[in-house]
Amino acid sequence: MSDLTDLTIEEAHALLQRGEVSSVELTQAHLERIEAVDGLIRSYLTVTAGQALDQARAADARRAEGEDTPLLGVPLSYKDVLCTRGVQTTCGSRILEGYRPPYTATAIEKLEALGAVMLGKTNMDEFAMGSSTENSAYVVTRNPWDTERVPGGSSGGSAASVAARLAVASLGTDTGGSIRQPASLCGVVGLKPSYGRVSRYGLVAFASSLDQIGPLTRSVTDAALMLNAIAGHDPRDSTSMNVEVPDYTAALRADMQGLRVGVPREYFIEGMQPAVEAAVRAAIDQLAELGAEIREVSLPHTDAALPVYYLVAPAEASANLARFDGVRYGPRVVAGSMWETYRQTRGQGFGPEVKRRIMLGTYALSAGYYDAYYLKAQKVRTLIKQDFEQAFEQVDLIACPVSPTTAFRIGERIDDPLQMYLSDVLTLAVNLAGICGISIPCGFDENDLPIGLQLIGPAFGEEQVLRAAYAYEQSTDWHTRVPAL
Ligand code: GLN
Repeated sequence: MSDLTDLTIEEAHALLQRGEVSSVELTQAHLERIEAVDGLIRSYLTVTAGQALDQARAADARRAEGEDTPLLGVPLSYKDVLCTRGVQTTCGSRILEGYRPPYTATAIEKLEALGAVMLGKTNMDEFAMGSSTENSAYVVTRNPWDTERVPGGSSGGSAASVAARLAVASLGTDTGGSIRQPASLCGVVGLKPSYGRVSRYGLVAFASSLDQIGPLTRSVTDAALMLNAIAGHDPRDSTSMNVEVPDYTAALRADMQGLRVGVPREYFIEGMQPAVEAAVRAAIDQLAELGAEIREVSLPHTDAALPVYYLVAPAEASANLARFDGVRYGPRVVAGSMWETYRQTRGQGFGPEVKRRIMLGTYALSAGYYDAYYLKAQKVRTLIKQDFEQAFEQVDLIACPVSPTTAFRIGERIDDPLQMYLSDVLTLAVNLAGICGISIPCGFDENDLPIGLQLIGPAFGEEQVLRAAYAYEQSTDWHTRVPAL
C-alpha cells in the first residue's frame, strides 16, 4: 500500500470521497511507513499510533454518515511546539520532557474538528531557535534527499515528515523563516501566513510579535486547503485578526495575467550558492512567461533585518521563557533553595542556543541598554516594514530566494552561531513586517538538493501569493520529484 503515502490532501480526499480507501487504511499506511523509514529520518518525537487509528475510525464513521470535507480522515503531523491535550509536547527541550498540555492549540483543534488525523509530533530546534533542527535536545532529523544533511529548521521534523511521505501534510511555525527555510531545503511547500491570520493560542511562544503557524505540504492546493482550515479570528488570541477568511482554493488560477512581480535587488546577496541564484532567476523568467509583469524593486533596509531580528526575537524570548522554572511545567531539579532550584532546573533544562538567546535578550532589555538596542531595533523594524509597504505600491508580489544555500551537512554550522543565523537572512524581514510568504520547489542543485522560490505578499495577501505559487507549480514539475528512500 506504499502509494497511499504519496497522496496529496487533494488526492487523498478524492479517494476517500469515492470510497476507494478508508481513513483507517490511509493512516495505517503512514504508520507502517513511519515504522519502516523514520528510524533513519527521525522526523517524529512522538508517534500517536493508537489515537491516530481511533481518530481515523471516527473519521470513517463521519464520512459514512455523509460528512465530507477535504481534511476528513487525512493523516497529518504537527510540530512539537503546538500544544496537544494529553500528548507530550516538548518544544524539542528537556525542560518540557514529559509535559502533557491540558489543552490543544486552536489551529490543531480546527483541523480536528474537520476530522484530520494526528499521526504524531515532529522534531524541532529547541523552542524553535535554529535553522537545522540540530538544536533539538532529543534527535537529529535527517534530510530525506541526503541523510547526511540537515532538513533545515526549526520546523525540520515537519518538513522532513512531508518530504519523506511520513505525513500527508504538517503544521510548522515561522518566527524568522522556520516554515519557509526547511520547506526549501526539503523540497516541499511551506506557507508563513500574515501575522494575525492564524491564532497562536496553544503555540508555545518564542517571539510573540513574530510567531505564526502555517502549513507544510506537497502542493500549493494543499497549502490553500490547510490555510482554509486554520485561518481566522480566535477570541483566545487577541492578536488574531478579525478579517474574513476567503476560500483560498478559489484563488488558484493557472495564469499570472495582470500580476506585477517585484524582484528585490538586495536579495541576491554575496555568498549565495550559484545554483540557487540560477534556479530562482529561471523561476522569475517563468513567472514572466505566465503573464506576470516583472519589475526590479528595492528594499533598502534589508541589511538591517538580521541585527534587528536578533535583538527583537531574543528580547521577546527572554521574557517568554521566564515561565519555565521547574515549578509549573516539566521536570524539576530540587536543590537547596528556591533560587537554586530555579537555577539548576533552567541550567540543566535549556540547551546552549536557548541560553544564548536568553542572555542576548536579557542584555538588550536591561536598564541602560534598552534604548540603545531594543528601542532602536523597534524603530528600524518600522523602516523594514515601510520598505515593503512602498514596494507593494508598485507590485503585487515579491519573488526572491528562500535560503542562500541548499541543505548543508549535519554539523557544518552548529559551532558557528553567526553562520547558522545567516541561513535565514532572506526570510527574517517578512516576519518583522508581519506579511506573508511561501516557499515552493523551483529546482535542484548539482548535488540533487532542492531549491525553493520565495513569493512574498502584503499583509493578508495570501490569495495572490497562493495564486502565483499555483500558476508556477502547474507549469513546472519540480514538485513531482520524490526523494529516494
Ligand atoms: N532560524 C531563526 C532563529 O533561529 C528563525 C527561527 C524560527 O523561525 N522559529 O531564530
